[in-house]
Amino acid sequence: MLLLIKNVDVYSPEPGGRCDLLLGGGRILRMEPDIRVPRRYCEVIEGRNLLAVPGFIDGHVHIMGGGGEGGFATRTPELPLTDAIAGGVTTVVGCLGTDGLTRNMPGLLAKAKGLEEEGLSTYVYSGSYGMPLRTMLPSLEEDLLYLDKVIGAGEIALSDHRSSQPTFEAFARLVGEARRGGMLSGKAGLVHIHLGDGARGLDYLRRMLMETEVPPTQMLPTHINRNADLFEEGIAYAQAGGYVDFTTSTLPSYQQAGEVPCAKALRRILEAGVDPGRITFTSDGQGSLPDWDEAGRLKGISIGRVTSLFAAVRQAIQEEGIPLATALRVITSNPAHILKLRGKGRLAPGLDADVVLLDPQSLEVRSVIAKGRPLMKAGKLLAKGIYA
Ligand code: ZN
Repeated sequence: MLLLIKNVDVYSPEPGGRCDLLLGGGRILRMEPDIRVPRRYCEVIEGRNLLAVPGFIDGHVHIMGGGGEGGFATRTPELPLTDAIAGGVTTVVGCLGTDGLTRNMPGLLAKAKGLEEEGLSTYVYSGSYGMPLRTMLPSLEEDLLYLDKVIGAGEIALSDHRSSQPTFEAFARLVGEARRGGMLSGKAGLVHIHLGDGARGLDYLRRMLMETEVPPTQMLPTHINRNADLFEEGIAYAQAGGYVDFTTSTLPSYQQAGEVPCAKALRRILEAGVDPGRITFTSDGQGSLPDWDEAGRLKGISIGRVTSLFAAVRQAIQEEGIPLATALRVITSNPAHILKLRGKGRLAPGLDADVVLLDPQSLEVRSVIAKGRPLMKAGKLLAKGIYA
């Protein structure tokens, strides 16, 4: 069945004016004014008074749940499909975090395949916080070459009390291996790096740029907004050509402790003259959000949500005055480009039919279409996972 969205204001994410969008076979077939198709061949969505934007890409989600950091009872649950739909997220990249043992690559791949069956587009990173990397096949290169869903390695922890404290040489070898595997498989081969609060900050990443031949496009450090010092370092690193990722899931205590809210972080990094193409947001969804006291003891724990992804972009537009087309990039065309997700992150004929319809005033998600299939229409959920 074809799907025709009539008279919608398109942001591809660039402003594209008023058009009709014809979707079929999972792709955008045509995008132009006044497309006419006999009604018996297509379902029509009236898009007047709505904005059409690319389906959102969340590049860091603990889709199979993560290890809680307060013992077994704090292990976090898997991502329910309905959370992704509510947040307009049509593409997720799954990863493991602190726990790379009771959460592992076979389980991560199985969950990614499950979400794909339920309607999303999914990819995964190989490994977890720790090094040496626990891959599915004997090496990262083989994971990249032989497992379709694997697009890189991560989230590797650096400058954090929970990291494996890898040497720079071991880290550099890993990034080199990711680059080779990425080139051979035609994928990004990206290394996604978790940054902690440690004073070493982005040291290893800067050294990669100065001491090796590997280009900065091979690494995407995340949690760059977690404290003011790391944020400032992140601005300088992005000015030197690096990519930076800000985490949208947060707790009030994180912001009191100095976390830079994503919306503000985006405004400030753009004001510093950083190329907007180097910035992404991810949710860290389903990851545990530990609440530490001053002595480093765990005093409480909650969970990241994928719905925080677009909420932060909306805040950047509504409260920080970032133009819609610029703000949208950090969860659409930028991650698609940086992660080399072909067919994703833009609205254009021939690309995947991942479309979100927004209310132009409130910017609320009204409808979500993933690979041509409506999962939410006029605020009503049409799809649900087997369990949620
Ligand atoms: Zn992390």
